[in-house]
Amino acid sequence: MDCIFCKIIEGHIPAEKVYEDDFFIAILDINPVNKGHLLVLPKKHSENIFDLDEPELSQVMVVIKKLSKILMDTLNAEGINIIQNNCKAAGQIIFHSHFHIIPRYTGDGIKIGTVHGKYNEGEIKDFANRIREGIRK
Ligand code: 5GP
Ligand code: ZN
Repeated sequence: MDCIFCKIIEGHIPAEKVYEDDFFIAILDINPVNKGHLLVLPKKHSENIFDLDEPELSQVMVVIKKLSKILMDTLNAEGINIIQNNCKAAGQIIFHSHFHIIPRYTGDGIKIGTVHGKYNEGEIKDFANRIREGIRK
């Protein structure tokens, strides 16, 4: 399989690894949104969040919280964005599940996502009902 993150995990491609346990590694993103931007990668290859099981998902959040606190303390970050892109339409470019931890500073000018929009008349209820129906299934 031609997966750049698997190659990093296996040590075939260099990366600045800052954390490792039995299930995850964290590396510095090579093109950071802000300096110190981390990527948390499950060691076992999976493409996106839909391939991760419940234990993996709960474990990864514990790692993310721990590393977020470390960025707050060591880089004097004033805030943290946790981002996870799934599928091409959502901006995923590396198809090995990963979580972004981005240190943020007041006035750093970084815009995550886009400008928020508005619903047309009645549309918010329609979306809510479609999602509620999906949850009941
Ligand atoms: P996404 O798939 O969620 O859009 O983001 C992939 C992220 O991986 C990007 O932020 C990109 O800068 C980072 N990235 C891509 N290739 C490499 C690499 O070879 N090494 C490291 N450390 N990061 C990478
Ligand atoms: Zn992989």
